[in-house]
Amino acid sequence: MDHLLSLIPFDNSLSFLIYLLELAGAFLVFTFVTYWTHRIAHCWKPLWYLHEAHHSVPYKGEYEFSLLNLVGWYNDWRSTLDVWVTEVLPMAGLVLLWPATWPLAVLFYIDNVLSEGLTDHNPRINIPGLAMGKYHIEHHKDMSVNFDGYFRLWDKVFGTQRNVV
Ligand SMILES: [Zn+2]
Ligand SMILES: [Zn+2]
Repeated sequence: MDHLLSLIPFDNSLSFLIYLLELAGAFLVFTFVTYWTHRIAHCWKPLWYLHEAHHSVPYKGEYEFSLLNLVGWYNDWRSTLDVWVTEVLPMAGLVLLWPATWPLAVLFYIDNVLSEGLTDHNPRINIPGLAMGKYHIEHHKDMSVNFDGYFRLWDKVFGTQRNVV
């Protein structure tokens, strides 16, 4: 733990502020990568084999949280591997390349625990700018739109956005 904390520049507020900006930048890059791993999962057969399982789950809009989500298991082995290949692997790569970004991995873990059963497929959630809830459910209705997993950003940039009201 001491080692992890020593990676964060607490010594003065300017270097800490710069560190926060770097974290935000690194997260933006991560959202770009996962946007594309998701898009590739829809057109490259080996990944589609895994991702198809996610699209086969009949999300009913209820709270479907499972304790297994805490250990990174999502419904079945194909859905689980889908998340591990398209999201966990890029995050692990980021932290390996740049260990000081480890707080992002903590946030990512928390988000992943909540996303499957509580936030991503929850029709009661529609927060402007965020991809969880209604926005992501639209992707389940039409698999050619709304690939973003975090912000409604790269869909807009790459012309795959269908906003929801
Ligand atoms: Zn998809
Ligand atoms: Zn989904």
